[in-house]
Amino acid sequence: MLINKVEFNPQNKLLTREALEAYDPASESWQKQFARRYTHHSELMNVLAGVEDVNETVYSKFAVSITPYMAQLMDKDDPECPIRKQYMPTFAEETKPGFHTMLDELGEEGDTIPGTSVVHRYPRRVLFLVSNTCAVLCRFCTRKRMVAQPDGSVHKDEIERSIDYIAGNTEIEDVLLSGGDPLTFTDERLDYILGQIRERAPHVRFLRMGSRMVVQLPTRITPELCAVLEKHRVQMVNIHINHPKEITPLLRERVKMIQKAGIMMGLQTVCLKGVNDDVAVLRELFMQSIEMGVRPYYVYSTDMVEGAHHFIVPHHRMLELYEGLRGWISGPAVPTFVVDGMGGLGKLPIIPTYVKEEIRADGQGTTIKCRNYKGMTVEMPGLGLDFRVPSQSHG
Ligand SMILES: *Cc1c(COP(=O)(O)O)cnc(C)c1O
Repeated sequence: MLINKVEFNPQNKLLTREALEAYDPASESWQKQFARRYTHHSELMNVLAGVEDVNETVYSKFAVSITPYMAQLMDKDDPECPIRKQYMPTFAEETKPGFHTMLDELGEEGDTIPGTSVVHRYPRRVLFLVSNTCAVLCRFCTRKRMVAQPDGSVHKDEIERSIDYIAGNTEIEDVLLSGGDPLTFTDERLDYILGQIRERAPHVRFLRMGSRMVVQLPTRITPELCAVLEKHRVQMVNIHINHPKEITPLLRERVKMIQKAGIMMGLQTVCLKGVNDDVAVLRELFMQSIEMGVRPYYVYSTDMVEGAHHFIVPHHRMLELYEGLRGWISGPAVPTFVVDGMGGLGKLPIIPTYVKEEIRADGQGTTIKCRNYKGMTVEMPGLGLDFRVPSQSHG
């Protein structure tokens, strides 16, 4: 299914600048708002100032989709607005010739079980891609190979075979539903998929879901949906927020609704140049997150997908950002920073070194050099005092 004009229902008029200002996103159903998405930058020119008049080739690579709720959060006059940067197409996307970008940088296709949409990369847990649609499209999407692509849709048969695979492999104890966004499905469809997993795969101990719809179209979260999640004992819902501006009273209200269903919530964030590569922004984001009772889980580096190179934050900068958090804000507000290794290597933690064991000058044991969050250092004797440097005699 292509998120594009083809789906647009002319009865659901696009909101003008004035109408958008007066619009109450909680006043209509999520389906109705979903149908009101802006799907071309020219439509947004009527709503926002300073929209870049991008080349149509951008659309052949990746569609545009912005809900009225999300458009409302954007700064009308400032193209540098951290929300605009995440969703508005820009000239920077018109891929530079020769720039090395990949559609499936993480090599997920290689770890996909044939005939299914299950990525089985790690032991005992699988990623189950159930949908190729999202409410709002992130310009840095890691799954541009399928999300919003006409040939990227996940067929019903694939879902059936995926459930068969999970049911038939008793070593799988953790299933992560993702996409696209699983919450683009109706409650009935989710009820069916989750019910099948619970019924046919009793060996699955942990059932979780990643969704950005909670943030992009909060009214998707309803008591009916939460009842479905609770019924099938979904244990964790991970949301994705990149800037504190995305946290609104409506989002807070719907997060609470999920939590009341007894579901633990995590936050994932993508480190994006010009959006959140800033210590103060991340501190505020993660503190607001734990205030909501949502535990920051991962900060991902931007993947090397087509048209996202301008968002990439170098690893040395990510180490500095981490150092600006650890020790400076509440421990539970500090997530793990990771880079997903190219070609299927998997997630690799990006962790600064605070404690380093070094061989003593006399070769008799080790010294532990410690550095704290403020940069104070101390040296202590290593614990391995019986450590011997091997083969001194060979010299
Ligand atoms: C991230 C990911 C998971 C889940 O990893 P956790 O570290 O357990 O959250 C599972 N499968 C794939 C392919 C992933 O990319």
